[in-house]
Amino acid sequence: MLDPGNLRSAAAAWMMSRGWKHKLAKTRGYEQSLFEHSLNEFDVLVELLPILTSSRHYNLSDTEQKILLVALLIHDAGKETEEWQVYVQNPRADRWISHIIPDLTRNLIPELCGKLGFEQLTEPVQRIMAHCVEFHHSRPGKSDGAIFEAMLTGGSDRFLTLAYLVRAIDHFCSAGSAAQAREAVEHDPALANHLMVAIHEAVVRGVSTTYVHSSSQVAFQQKGWRPLLYFSNATIYGADPNDQRLIPTVNEISGFLQAQIDAVISRDVTPLMVGSPTANILPKPDLFAFSESRQYLQSAGGKIGAQSFARAYDREKSRIVKGGSDPRSPGKGKTKADVILAYWKLVKRKGDPYSLEMDRDVARLSVAQPEMLVFKFFKAMVDPKKLDSVTKEGADLAKGLYEKTFGHGSWDALQSTSTLMPAKDMASTVDYFWALTGEAVNHPEVQKLAELPDQTRLQVLIDLLNGIAQEVYASVGRPSPRDILSQNMAQAFVKDIIRPSAGSDIRAFASEQLDHYCRSKPFAGKDNAQGIYLCPICNAPFNFNDGVRASADFIDSPQTHTNRGVACGPFGYIMVCTACYYERLLLQILLGSRPAEIITLLPRLNLGPAKGEQLVRKVREWVEGAKAQLRGESGNLQSGFSLGFTEQAARHLGDRDPFTLESDELLSLFSYRIAGDKQKEREQEAMRRLKEEFDNDLNALGVACGQSFSTWESVVEALIENQIHQQEVKAIRRDVFRLFETIYLICQTPNLILIPLTYEIASGKEEAETSKALRRLYVALILSLVFESSVAIHKQADPVDFQSGMGAAYVPPIPAVRSLIGHDWLHITEAKCWVAAIGAASMLVRDTGLPARSALYQVLAADPPEKLARRIEEAGSGRLTPRHLRLIEQLPGFRRAPEKEVSV
Ligand SMILES: [Zn+2]
Repeated sequence: MLDPGNLRSAAAAWMMSRGWKHKLAKTRGYEQSLFEHSLNEFDVLVELLPILTSSRHYNLSDTEQKILLVALLIHDAGKETEEWQVYVQNPRADRWISHIIPDLTRNLIPELCGKLGFEQLTEPVQRIMAHCVEFHHSRPGKSDGAIFEAMLTGGSDRFLTLAYLVRAIDHFCSAGSAAQAREAVEHDPALANHLMVAIHEAVVRGVSTTYVHSSSQVAFQQKGWRPLLYFSNATIYGADPNDQRLIPTVNEISGFLQAQIDAVISRDVTPLMVGSPTANILPKPDLFAFSESRQYLQSAGGKIGAQSFARAYDREKSRIVKGGSDPRSPGKGKTKADVILAYWKLVKRKGDPYSLEMDRDVARLSVAQPEMLVFKFFKAMVDPKKLDSVTKEGADLAKGLYEKTFGHGSWDALQSTSTLMPAKDMASTVDYFWALTGEAVNHPEVQKLAELPDQTRLQVLIDLLNGIAQEVYASVGRPSPRDILSQNMAQAFVKDIIRPSAGSDIRAFASEQLDHYCRSKPFAGKDNAQGIYLCPICNAPFNFNDGVRASADFIDSPQTHTNRGVACGPFGYIMVCTACYYERLLLQILLGSRPAEIITLLPRLNLGPAKGEQLVRKVREWVEGAKAQLRGESGNLQSGFSLGFTEQAARHLGDRDPFTLESDELLSLFSYRIAGDKQKEREQEAMRRLKEEFDNDLNALGVACGQSFSTWESVVEALIENQIHQQEVKAIRRDVFRLFETIYLICQTPNLILIPLTYEIASGKEEAETSKALRRLYVALILSLVFESSVAIHKQADPVDFQSGMGAAYVPPIPAVRSLIGHDWLHITEAKCWVAAIGAASMLVRDTGLPARSALYQVLAADPPEKLARRIEEAGSGRLTPRHLRLIEQLPGFRRAPEKEVSV
């Protein structure tokens, strides 16, 4: 009978108009605005109404439901006063101020009823609403007045029932954690017999946690539970006690988790498989799928250009010819000529540097480089030390098959190679292959394979090596590493679930942790089979077999993760627990690369069900919109999307109150126009690339695209408008106009939302860390206000303390910035000032003429900021304008004179 959707938006608009987004409702530990808190209670009631109205419980009438809705929306209205807001930010018992203000409540009730379409409710009904509000915060004995008044003024005999319900729901929604919320229900007579609650709770680790949350939620929902409140680390669910719902077991949750991870890692991971030819060619063996070996070899063959070696040689040769310095002079490192000399030594030949003979071998080694990488990847792919599942027997079989193809001694030669060294690789792998007869590989048109066209020969090699690998994999009959991975990942992550409990003994865990802490010192930075370890990331105790060697590919500067580096010297890797390793692996699979920064959104305290769903939907719409713009699907490529152009965003925001921003405005807020000359430059670049690709032949291009063009200009136009759907043209469009997705979304439930970025927010700016940190803070503040969440922008390696004293936005841990702001987390109440301040500073930067590296920070920290006016005048880039003065007024150091306002 009630339409909660419409009521909710009407209520939200009314609360906004009273400024409740700026006002605090909660401070202790977790901040929540009056707007969020009131709307959460409304949401929870809506979710509970089907149970509460049932005849087995309260049998609430239509009017009674309305009483509850209005009373909950308005229960904390007294907190909107300036006095209470001042008090709550610095609460002291001797200055206590009540937030129950009967006059205010009684004025607001008819107003809110009007907005909600409840005008027909009679005055006595409205009085009951007021009584419920006045009663909600009373302690026993203190409420007598309210009760008497209610009875004397003819309130219904149900008044107390409703008032107790309002109070119970308020206590439930105000609890600091899921466990406390459960206690609040179980100890409250108004709800205990009418609502059954259960929770899932997990350790917040990162990406994996989003899957832990969603698999837990699926498991609970499947058993008939409905989510009531979302916390960052937990969800509390409710059900009608008469239905006798069962709590899912950890095993059941683990099953859903594995299915979700299966789906995630089944995506194409080829770009992650082939590592660096000069370091580790197979950096992520866990992701290896036997069935995809051909794709990997193909990708290895494309990793290095066939001309790169020859080009470098040409450069050094031309220096010699022009009489430049000898590239082989000591201290300059190996030149390409040295490489050929080394190659000749290996194949027992002699010759002169930069001779015709050398030129010929340079060409050979250059075109052979893709093949060298294919051999290199193949070597790793049949190595049981890299892939357990290959086994010793598999390696023996590989040897036999390899020698049958490439001849006696070829296997040992292959094994003697290591990271890419063209001379060595040519002699030990490619030369064997090129010496094969055409007959042997179905290419009778050539005598030796060396004569085949480069691309054909590369394909022949991939076929040969893939054939060997597939025969080996089939014969050992083991599952691919990737098949085992999702199971292992699920097992590792499911340990992060605290509730429902798997019956583990917390005391035993703690004592194991202590034991490992004491004994792990000698093994810091070493992988030792007898090793005892304590994970430097999450403090989990583990032994050698349960740990992973994490090199720089996973963790930047490993030694910074443990203070033991001080005692034991720096180390190239650290041992981390499998869960921490899988956490990083999972993120790389999702992104296809490593994140540069992560935007983390968490509920401030908690979120009701409707608000949670809305948050997930809005964040998704925003990120999808940003991605489409980054891919160049919308618009005419004349604008870009970047979170780092603070000045642009501040300009777009203008005088708008950031609290009134809607999520669909974020896209335009962070858009910028590409300068005309830059755009021209790119158009010319596109034309040059098109001509190159199609050999300057407009017809050839027309045929390839199935469209006809009269001029190259018209092709570029069509390319910009995204009207050409031919592969190569699309690739040119992407390259030239930098159309890459750099923002991702990992979001399963409202508990925890991660937005990894593959570029730093302030990337491409030659700026000091202080200024970059301020740009991050600006974005975090805006997102926090728009999505009403706590927002942290951080590097994966920098852990953020999400538990203590959260607020609107995380202040990056740069000492100068922290001391300027004065907190680790910026509070909701200060958010608006800092959005204005950072925005104003960014707009002043240019005219102050301060060095670009640190200007943003210096302007913001200027004390007194008035001195900037002098700077602007002296910088000579223009004169001081009233606009400058208005911006200076926004800076944090500006102190408004009390008696005479600074007016411009
Ligand atoms: Zn760990």
